[in-house]
Amino acid sequence: MANTHGRHFFMNPGPTNIPDRILRAMDRGTIDFNSAEFRAISDQCFAGLQRVFKTTQPILGYAATGHGAWEAALVNLFSPGDRVLIVESGYFSLNWGLRAEAFGLQVETLPNDWRRTADPAKLEARLRDDRNHEIKAVLAVHNETSTGVAHPVAALRRAIDAARHPALFCVDVISSLGSFDFRMDEWGVDVTVVGSQKGLMLPTGMAFTGVSAKAIAATAAAKLPRVYWDWRRLLGQGATTQGYWNGTVPVHFFYGLQEALRMLEDEGLDNVFARHHRLAEATRRAVRTWRRNDGPEIFSIDPAGQSDTVTAVLLPEGHDADKLRQIALDRFNLSLGGGLGQLKGRLFRIGHLGDLNEPTVLGSLATIEIAMELAGVPHGKGGVQAAADYLVSEA
Ligand code: PLP
Repeated sequence: MANTHGRHFFMNPGPTNIPDRILRAMDRGTIDFNSAEFRAISDQCFAGLQRVFKTTQPILGYAATGHGAWEAALVNLFSPGDRVLIVESGYFSLNWGLRAEAFGLQVETLPNDWRRTADPAKLEARLRDDRNHEIKAVLAVHNETSTGVAHPVAALRRAIDAARHPALFCVDVISSLGSFDFRMDEWGVDVTVVGSQKGLMLPTGMAFTGVSAKAIAATAAAKLPRVYWDWRRLLGQGATTQGYWNGTVPVHFFYGLQEALRMLEDEGLDNVFARHHRLAEATRRAVRTWRRNDGPEIFSIDPAGQSDTVTAVLLPEGHDADKLRQIALDRFNLSLGGGLGQLKGRLFRIGHLGDLNEPTVLGSLATIEIAMELAGVPHGKGGVQAAADYLVSEA
């Protein structure tokens, strides 16, 4: 029988744990979304989001998951036949590309080893080659949740500039925003795509796009049909924040978002990032210890690319990561992320983002050690101790 005692340890890299403060903030009656009271709440939320995105440009929201915001970016910016360049990083980058293909775009992939960070020099070289500027946009994923590799967005921007290429720069920050550093304006990002259920600690179901003036200008020439996602419609005439919703506004999400933003600002974004880094590094210390004795290893090879929100752990050949996950869940009530696409069964993913603390991470690492033992996965002993030693050194 499955162990359902105690707290369910939910360590997937999204959705993430919803803090009690946010649940309580959402536990209130609805109000008219056309009222001044709601308008004040939504204005406050969009202003707060701008601070988290580090932008002064408009942010538009939808009742959707990240997939919706991906699609919003595509239909607002492009016409059938337009060429876009996907910076390959893993399952999510390729999926964004598949959606672009479904809309009749020509999708070119800048190939990249999933275990490594994207190479800005390769992007620059490809863009320099594109003398007629056929590539309309570069699409990249900041933190590839399927691999646990964080990609160098600022350096990719510099590569676009170095090639003097006018392509729009669209970045998926779905598993980085609010967890580690992202700067929409400073890094010259034209479209920022995010969902509610990771660093923002909300339930799944809202998505946002930050849009630059250049992106808004591009919508005029874009011919793909759009109604729900139409940025011009949502923005309203000359407005700098969302002035219109298609249908009923998800008021309760805004109650939650207001509280999430308060939590991020009470802690201070830099402290939030430092906490994520500390918990991620503790996790990495454990996995590096497990690596001994031909045990599992961190999937992300470049140390600079090892993500502060998710660690993907590659099992030794011949061992099934899904079996290990099942033991962790059934026997100990610990949920871990699985491998996606071609990585299914090869790795498991530890999500260490959102509302988490040291005991939760240490308890999860200890449980993974037990599950590895039970599943017969070879590993070096002492991973939890290595994580704890690191946390002592950082205290
Ligand atoms: N992009 C990244 C990097 C993700 O991690 C995810 C989901 O985990 C998505 C896109 C898809 O977002 P959603 O599941 O909210 O549609």
